[in-house]
This record gives sequence, C-alpha cells and structure tokens, in this order.
Amino acid sequence: MRDATPTASHYVDGAYLEDAEGAAIEVIYPATGARIATVHSASGQVVEAALAAATRAQPAWAALPGVERGRVLRRAADILRARNRELSELETLDTGKPLSETLVADATSAADALEYFGGLAAAITGEHIPLADGDFVYTRREALGVCVGIGAWNYPTQIAAWKAAPALACGNTMVFKPSETTPLCALKLAEILTEAGAPPGVFNVVNGLGDVGAALVADGRVAKVSLTGSVPTGRKVYAAAAQGMKHATMELGGKSPLVIFDDADLESAISAAINGNFYSTGQICSNGTRVFVQSGIKEAFLERLAERTANATLGDPLDEATTLGPMVSAAQLEIVLDYVARGRAEGARLVTGGARVEREGFWIEPTVFADVTDDMTIAREEIFGPVMTVLDFETEDEALARANATEYGLAAGVFTADLTRAHRMAAGFEAGTTWINTYNLTPVEAPFGGSKMSGVGRENSAAAIAHWSELKSVYVSLNPTEAPF
Ligand code: NAD
Repeated sequence: MRDATPTASHYVDGAYLEDAEGAAIEVIYPATGARIATVHSASGQVVEAALAAATRAQPAWAALPGVERGRVLRRAADILRARNRELSELETLDTGKPLSETLVADATSAADALEYFGGLAAAITGEHIPLADGDFVYTRREALGVCVGIGAWNYPTQIAAWKAAPALACGNTMVFKPSETTPLCALKLAEILTEAGAPPGVFNVVNGLGDVGAALVADGRVAKVSLTGSVPTGRKVYAAAAQGMKHATMELGGKSPLVIFDDADLESAISAAINGNFYSTGQICSNGTRVFVQSGIKEAFLERLAERTANATLGDPLDEATTLGPMVSAAQLEIVLDYVARGRAEGARLVTGGARVEREGFWIEPTVFADVTDDMTIAREEIFGPVMTVLDFETEDEALARANATEYGLAAGVFTADLTRAHRMAAGFEAGTTWINTYNLTPVEAPFGGSKMSGVGRENSAAAIAHWSELKSVYVSLNPTEAPF
C-alpha cells in the first residue's frame, strides 16, 4: 500500500505547515487496516496561526469584486476536475469508499460547488426599499468574517468544499478542521485553492481531534461555525457557538424514511433502497434507513432486494469493479455489528447479510432486516452502516405518521405512481430534503439540510448565501430631520 502522508499536517496562510509537537494521528486504510499516513494534531500555535492568517486575509478578500472571488473558485473547480482521478484515489484511501463512487461523487461534487458559488459570487447583492417622501433603505449583503468549518469522515472533500465555496464567495475566510478519521483530502482542496489564486489565509486547514474543533469554535475572532457531524457533537458545538452569539449551521444525523407504495415501480424503488442504504457502505447522513413497504408488495420487494443485494461486489476499493467498500474504521464496524446483534435480539427477521466479512480491514455484509417494528432500536437510532430496516404499512396516513415519528428530520422519500399522493407525502414529511421516485440526489442547485434534531441552516443553492453573510440596512433620508424640541 502506498504511503499517502501529505506534505505536512496542516495548511495555513497559503502553505503547508508541520507541527510535530501535536499528538500523532494515524491514518488507516479501511480496506486493509494498514497505516498509510501519520499527521499531527494541531497544537495551540497552529490553531493561532490559522486564525490569525484568516483574520488578516479577510478584509482584502471581502473587498475584491465578487467576480474576482468567483474566478478563483471557478479555477479551483477546473483544477479539481483535471485532477479528479488522483483526488478520487486519495478519497478512497482516506475513507475506503470504492473508486467507482469517489470518481463521480467527491472531487466532482466539490467542483460543482466551487463552480456554482463561483458563478454566484458577483450576484451577491442587496436590495432597494422605497419609503415615504423619497426616503429609501438599501441593504448591503456583507461577509460575516472568519468562519470555521468542521467535517465528518464520510465525504471529506465534498464537505470541505460545500462549506468553503459559499463562504469564500461571500467574502469570508475559513479555517476548516477535517475529521480526525479522514485528515487527508481537505489539505488538497487548500492546495488547489492556492493554485487557483486564493490569497494566503483565505482557506486554511488544521487537523486534530474534537478539542481542536472546540478551540476554533470558542475563539472570539470567529463569526460563524458550520459543522457536519453527529447530533451529540452538534449539541456541543451549537451551544459553544451560542456563547459568542455566532452564526451556526448544523448538518447532523438522520433516520430518514423511504415510503414505497404498492403502485410504485418496484425495480426503481429497490434501486433507491439500495442507493439509500448501501452507497458509501451506508455512511451517508440522509440515508433512507427506515424503508416502509406497503404490505401488498412486501414479499416481492424483499425477494428481489435480496437477489440484487447478492450482486454487490466487495473487493479492492481501488478496483473500479468494486461496488461496496468497508466501514471507515474498526470502531465504526463494531458499532454497526452491535446494532445488527440488537436487531436480531429484538426479533427482527434477518433477510440477508449480518456478518463481518472475514478479511483484513473493516468489512461487513450488506444487511437487510424485515418485520421491523417502530420501537426496535435499529428503527430508532442512526446506525451509519449498511443496515436496512424494512417495515410494513397499510395506509398512507399511517405511513406518514410513522415516518414522522422520529426526533430526526434530515430527509425522506416516497415511491408511488400516484402523483397527487406523492406531493401530499412530500408536503407532509417533516424533513429538510424530500425525494419523489428517487433517493439521495443532492445537486448543488438545491438546498440541503435538516429540520428537527437533524440540524439548522441550509447548504448548497442560493439559499446558502443567507447563511454565510448578513444584511446591513442603510437608511437614506432626502428630507430634513425633525425633532420634538
Ligand atoms: P462526529 O460528530 O463524531 O464528528 C464530527 C466532527 O466534529 C469531527 O471533525 C470531530 O473531530 C469534531 N468534534 C467532535 N467534538 C467536537 C467539539 N466538542 N467541538 C468541535 N468539534 C468537535 O461525527 P462523525 O462520526 O465524524 O460523522 C458521522 C456523523 O455525521 C453522523 O451522525 C452523520 O449522520 C453525520 N453527517 C451529517 C451530514 C449532513 O450533511 N447532515 C453529512 C455527513 C455526516
């Protein structure tokens, strides 16, 4: 296995920065369990250097015309696309996700975000509000300042870019902390932004564990924090941000429903269930892990699902023929195996999978449970692995009520040939993103984010601009100012 050690552990003020003082973080290739790199957690000095660089760089970056900031982002998009294979291989080494996925879903998705917000940068404007007697107000949409991004381990390139692209388009600068499990990919984004013309300090990456993230969030120079992570971490980060009255975006976990009516196109619905549970080995926040199947098609659904799941190709993730990779880490594998054991113990019927795959690395079979009831642990808690739970239902009202009976609200999907019912369900779902007759598509053009415990704020689309900027009102009077005395 090749050594994937980066030039240095951090990227600060336009250059790689090493800091051997920080605790070593071993980067493990999930497909083999072998160590492929070591980086060092950021010491206080590195955190300070990154925040100082971002603070220094911000006024001049914000003062550039939007069209110039946008040009940098669009150039970065082109570089990402040109280097897609190399970046995809690194993403595969960092996460274990198969190259068949990373070639189309990671650097390419990051490039989409940079291209989209690069194009939008010059169109970030205020408005004119006419008042009585010729007075008026105009608004200026201004940058927030120094922003902090904190990432999860499932999409290290995409998460960094989904935060950096709109943040930088608005004139902010950023210090980004990747997950300690996948510290490699965001460094490449920083390197590429520099190559594309971003001035030093505009986008910085510091690696480290939760304490480094907490130090960034607590710093008085930071105006906003955007976290992609779990609900427990979200609670802590949101609370810490509140201490400084900072802006916050929380992209958190889910236990999303996928409701399949008996008039649905069965093969498409099964494709959606497979994509929404096994893509990225189930490590996707918006996965439709509670699959509600109307009782008339239940057995046909399960039979065909089991047949198709048997076609998953587990193998070397760097081989493009592989369609299912390992779990990201030994710890995550243990969590998932524990949920499988609980599913069995609580009486769910194991349709397929359920076992660890006996080979080096962190492998588990794609797993389907049927006859799952709403109260079972596997139907309530986010598993974050390739474990699908299939629940039966009879009526639309029942399906909607049960789909919504969760503290989460990230996403939801419905499959039906009845258009009216499809839109009724989409309107009734308590979720930030919903799909009709498809699942898990998250184009940059559409807002993405959660409701309820799944988070606050939105990423992607023009809606993201509101979360990376603030409005200033300027009242202009054309009349004499009067006073009572
Ligand atoms: P996690 O919550 O354990 O960690 C997320 C990040 O927060 C890491 O970088 C971690 O170092 C950092 N962190 C931990 N404690 C912190 C603290 N006190 N202050 C500041 N930062 C801290 O999440 P994970 O295990 O890396 O990722 C999996 C979770 O992320 C799942 O729940 C998944 O659903 C969620 N997720 C959500 C989305 C989304 O867009 N909604 C996308 C991907 C993953």
